[in-house]
Amino acid sequence: MKEHQARKRFGQNFLQDTRIIADIVNAVRPQPLDTVIEIGPGLAAITKPLAEKLNRLHVIEIDRDIVGRLKTLPFAGKLVIHEGDVLQFDFNSIAGKKKIVGNLPYNISTPLLFRLSEIADDVVDMHFMLQKEVVERMVAAPKTNDYGRLGVMLQYFFEMEKLIDVPPESFDPAPKVDSAVVRMIPLKHRIGRAQDFAHFAKLVKLAFHQRRKTIRNNLKELAADEDLQAVGINPQDRAEHIAPEKYVELSNYLVQKAV
Ligand code: SAM
Repeated sequence: MKEHQARKRFGQNFLQDTRIIADIVNAVRPQPLDTVIEIGPGLAAITKPLAEKLNRLHVIEIDRDIVGRLKTLPFAGKLVIHEGDVLQFDFNSIAGKKKIVGNLPYNISTPLLFRLSEIADDVVDMHFMLQKEVVERMVAAPKTNDYGRLGVMLQYFFEMEKLIDVPPESFDPAPKVDSAVVRMIPLKHRIGRAQDFAHFAKLVKLAFHQRRKTIRNNLKELAADEDLQAVGINPQDRAEHIAPEKYVELSNYLVQKAV
């Protein structure tokens, strides 16, 4: 079969570093009967060692040529191939608690992470290769430069840990950026439950709209100084100083007040 030409538009940077591949599979710890879904199997660098440990492996792949290749692999019988865009994929169509894995196309990573948050209750864990800078924003604590909307929204659902740093040379073709593997485990007890998730999401988006401004300024459309003070937020503070649970508390306070 002729060699596959990596397609930039599908974020194709194929893993070629056997040590990193082994580290990812070890981190996932697949057991034969687990329901595992791999996003973007590509040329099967992670797919093959995962399939060796599983009775069955779901894969979601957008590139038709790659789907054709996957069907010819010696272990194709173990694969359930879903051809299409993962951003349109109905994860509920696969029953049971899922483990999700992927060396993700970096151009869709943020919308994908937001979509996966919606199914957090049906997930055992997720392991993703992402741009290192994105991983650092995901796991960032308040009062650090990397802390922002992405961190707050994901830390609402998941406990997250950066596991492995991965240099560009581990891929072919090499991406322009450093990468890292992150583990995401849905929280059993979320940091308070947002009574109205859409309200919470809007509030967090507005809070970080202009990082240099005070929380009072960024949230003036939603909250008065008294509202902020009622949940212990100083109106002169900046969004990046405020912990995720405070955003949940403020959203719930405002939602209650409006009833
Ligand atoms: N897993 C392989 C590896 O580690 O070498 C390939 C990783 S490559 C970074 C990303 C893979 O995701 C490619 O196979 C690409 O075709 C696929 N992909 C890109 N966009 C996608 C989308 N929207 N839905 C599903 N798969 C996608």
